[in-house]
Amino acid sequence: METITNNSKETQKLGEDFAKEIKEGGMVCLSGDLGAGKTTFAQGLLKGLGCSGPFTSPTFTIVKEYKVESIKYKAYHMDCYRIKKEDMINLGWKEIIAEPKNIVIIEWAKRIKNIIPQKAIWIKFEWIDEEKRRITFN
Ligand code: ADP
Ligand code: MG
Repeated sequence: METITNNSKETQKLGEDFAKEIKEGGMVCLSGDLGAGKTTFAQGLLKGLGCSGPFTSPTFTIVKEYKVESIKYKAYHMDCYRIKKEDMINLGWKEIIAEPKNIVIIEWAKRIKNIIPQKAIWIKFEWIDEEKRRITFN
């Protein structure tokens, strides 16, 4: 499924609506270049899950953990831009993915693709112009 968003608000709303698809747990891998809208979508998704902000980008922190109010599990927003899979393993990857009810959102997941479970959902972000993005779900 493919959607075009016309501004960042629409991408955020798409993320917010996507929360209902993943609220029982799972992994969402967001791929696409810098500025394609991955963080914007993730912020909407975290909001849709009922997490409390601020939803700052995990570019520097690598892993940000949020409590999901409606369930007793957690949401994780990760950014693999600066790291290798060994780093992610050291950051508690195994424990995080061992709980199927956790919600794991990963930017730049291709950098650690060898450790991404088969059942992960992939969403591709493409820059069309200043305000338009193509977002493809598989
Ligand atoms: P990424 O995490 O993929 O690097 P970000 O979400 O951090 O991307 O940045 C996207 C940038 O593009 C933001 O500055 C945002 O305001 C802008 N933008 C413009 N149009 C859109 C759109 N349709 N969807 C998402 N972001 C958009
Ligand atoms: Mg980002």
